[in-house]
Amino acid sequence: MTGASDVLSISAPLPWQAEAWSKLQRQFAADRLPHAILLAGPQGVGKARLALALARFLLCSQPVDGLNCGKCHACDLSGGTNHGDFRWLEPEEKSRVIKVDQVRELVEFTNRTAALGLRKVVVLAPAEAMNASAANALLKSLEEPASETYLILVCHRLQGLPATVRSRCQMLRFGVPAAAQSLPWLEGLAGAGERSRQLLDFAGGRPLLAAQLHAQGGVEQLALIRSALQGLFHGIGNATELNAALANIPLEQLLQHLGTALQAELRLLDQRQVVTPAARAGFGLLDEVVGLQRAVDQGSNPNRQVLVDALLARIQQELGEGGLGAKIHPAPGGAVL
Ligand SMILES: [Zn+2]
Repeated sequence: MTGASDVLSISAPLPWQAEAWSKLQRQFAADRLPHAILLAGPQGVGKARLALALARFLLCSQPVDGLNCGKCHACDLSGGTNHGDFRWLEPEEKSRVIKVDQVRELVEFTNRTAALGLRKVVVLAPAEAMNASAANALLKSLEEPASETYLILVCHRLQGLPATVRSRCQMLRFGVPAAAQSLPWLEGLAGAGERSRQLLDFAGGRPLLAAQLHAQGGVEQLALIRSALQGLFHGIGNATELNAALANIPLEQLLQHLGTALQAELRLLDQRQVVTPAARAGFGLLDEVVGLQRAVDQGSNPNRQVLVDALLARIQQELGEGGLGAKIHPAPGGAVL
């Protein structure tokens, strides 16, 4: 979803990125665009899109209104994978890691003269996929950037990036955009109405993730999973049935659903409810899910079934008998635990 292939002739930033984009444009116009730019924020909010738009703008020989023109030779090439001055570095197939050899090749590339004579641009996505030696190999390029060379680092997890790398970049942070901005964009892809709203909800407000869910289809299946998870949190679900419903979902997505559903549940709690033991158990579970997501992200490959069984059993056990809702929300006339 983030590669440099399959793009339109003009790459524009997304509607909710206008502010960041105009900052970059102002810096560029003043000839003060930093050579290392770090785009940080949760996955699925469009950082890679912005990286692509900026890269193609910098490579274009005659940008129009602050965007790549979409017509010149450079734009032809930067829309595919054949631009000699453009590298999009991501983990090689089947690997989750950007390796030191990839970065060494990249450093060599940055030291060469631009083939088309304008600029060179490198995008690392996600930058935290670099292992320690890869990050080390990159440091020198960040410290003493080659002339007319721009490094754009896309980062979903800042804590996964060494401070030595972070501190050498200008950082732009991106949060989850307001639905008022992302929903119209999503509706352009998935159609107006309830479906887009639902997709955005499933994606925890992250529009690119919502678009991906839309492209994969099966929003109905997602709705089933979500309501089954909610049932489990409220002690009315059945872990075995849920387990069966989840059988065909990749672990990464499953953890994603679990995290988002749990977050949505916990977000409903008020100040008093948030300190109850059941709520604490809920937050503990969320921490655990996030930790698992990170581990899987970094290439850990746990036994899926064992993990899912254990997680669902824990939800039932800790939030169990009556579930999160019943434990936290007082029964009519009853006291809050
Ligand atoms: Zn152009």
